[in-house]
Amino acid sequence: MTEQYDVVVVGAGPGGSVTAKTLAARGVSVLLVEKRQEIGAALRCAEVVGPRPEIRRFIEVDEGWVLQDIDELWLFPPGGQKIEKRLPGCGVLVDRKRFDKALAIAAADAGARVWTKTRATGLTREDGRVVVTLRHLGTDRRVAARVVVGADGVESLVGRWGGIETALGLTGVFSAVQYHLTGIDGPSGVLQFFFGNEVAPGGYLWVFPKGDRTANVGVCVSPACQKDRRALDYLNAFVAARYPEASSVEMAMGGIPIAGPLKSLVADNVVLVGDAGHQTNPLSAGGIMNAMVAGAMAAEVIADALARRDVSKESLSAYDQRWRETAGNLYRWHARLRRLYLKLSDRDLDRLGEVLAALIRDRQPDDLYSIEFVATLLRSMAWMLPKFRFLR
Ligand SMILES: Cc1cc2nc3c(=O)[nH]c(=O)nc-3n(C[C@H](O)[C@H](O)[C@H](O)COP(=O)(O)OP(=O)(O)OC[C@H]3O[C@@H](n4cnc5c(N)ncnc54)[C@H](O)[C@@H]3O)c2cc1C
Repeated sequence: MTEQYDVVVVGAGPGGSVTAKTLAARGVSVLLVEKRQEIGAALRCAEVVGPRPEIRRFIEVDEGWVLQDIDELWLFPPGGQKIEKRLPGCGVLVDRKRFDKALAIAAADAGARVWTKTRATGLTREDGRVVVTLRHLGTDRRVAARVVVGADGVESLVGRWGGIETALGLTGVFSAVQYHLTGIDGPSGVLQFFFGNEVAPGGYLWVFPKGDRTANVGVCVSPACQKDRRALDYLNAFVAARYPEASSVEMAMGGIPIAGPLKSLVADNVVLVGDAGHQTNPLSAGGIMNAMVAGAMAAEVIADALARRDVSKESLSAYDQRWRETAGNLYRWHARLRRLYLKLSDRDLDRLGEVLAALIRDRQPDDLYSIEFVATLLRSMAWMLPKFRFLR
């Protein structure tokens, strides 16, 4: 028997849950499926999200899942000099497992059906609809819908099944690993980032406090630069040198897409959201807020398309356009900067650190992600002209 919904959303991360919630609130019948038995677990995140007012666009902030308010960044280029930037209220560190669950509960409260331990295994298009095959609690099921949303993360298969080009090259992804360390002292409310080819080639290493002498300490590296060492080797070296007495109570690992925007996020009956659509910020590698913003945006476009009874690629492409205007055009530049960054020596990074320290001193948080800021940064890096050929 084939069940019927207007929309099936595959993946109950922040992107999928916000998509499902927004669609359900518009009166659309939605099924949200998650392959894992517990939404939010296992953790694959350093748990930093944007400022409280932005989170409130999607869900009421619950102090039960807020672990830290972030007010300051410390950046450490390889030479060791510290760059400090006060950014009061720039974000919060959340308990991601509780956060993801709260978003899925909000989707269910809005009217979406939620199935855990349900893996999407394929899709076919039949008579203008899409049929999604599912492995649900050990049983094979078929669900027909007019649209399927792939919010299935960096390992997305929905895009490929639907005919959207989503392959990521070596320079388009970070390999990331993290310990939740206990027994470490450090400033609260401060995000620390460490850079350099010996510490985190092509990426960065982070120390994010969680309270109670614990922190998320992790590293993301570029497979294009990491030579014969794994991300875990870089992390272990850092932890052994800096926190020899600390213990790990949890590990997280995963890939992060940093390639910049896809050519298109839509096909006939198919839409991609969040990491599945490569919507992370290629510079910061943050993707939680982006997945939620994109989920809400995609849901509005899908609801309008359903009302018009036209879920063709052309009809859904308003989402492509809105994403380009909101972030996609900027992220194309960020991705170019990221590719340039992969080519920098430690000496270059120290010089970049000096430039950055001067540039960010008087800027507001929003300015740091503007096209104007990227352009100013590039102009200040003229000494790297020979490496600029990578800015395609
Ligand atoms: C180590 C690490 C640290 C990070 N730290 C941060 C950070 O501090 N801040 C930040 O903003 N971003 C961070 N990110 C990135 C962030 O986690 C992602 O950008 C964000 O989770 C994207 O949300 P999403 O909903 O698109 O995908 P996800 O959160 O990945 O959710 C996708 C969901 O789809 C499910 N799924 C996959 N395939 C199927 C299937 N076939 N059927 C059913 N379900 C399926 C998965 O189980 C998963 O629950 C980090 C990533 C990593 C790996």
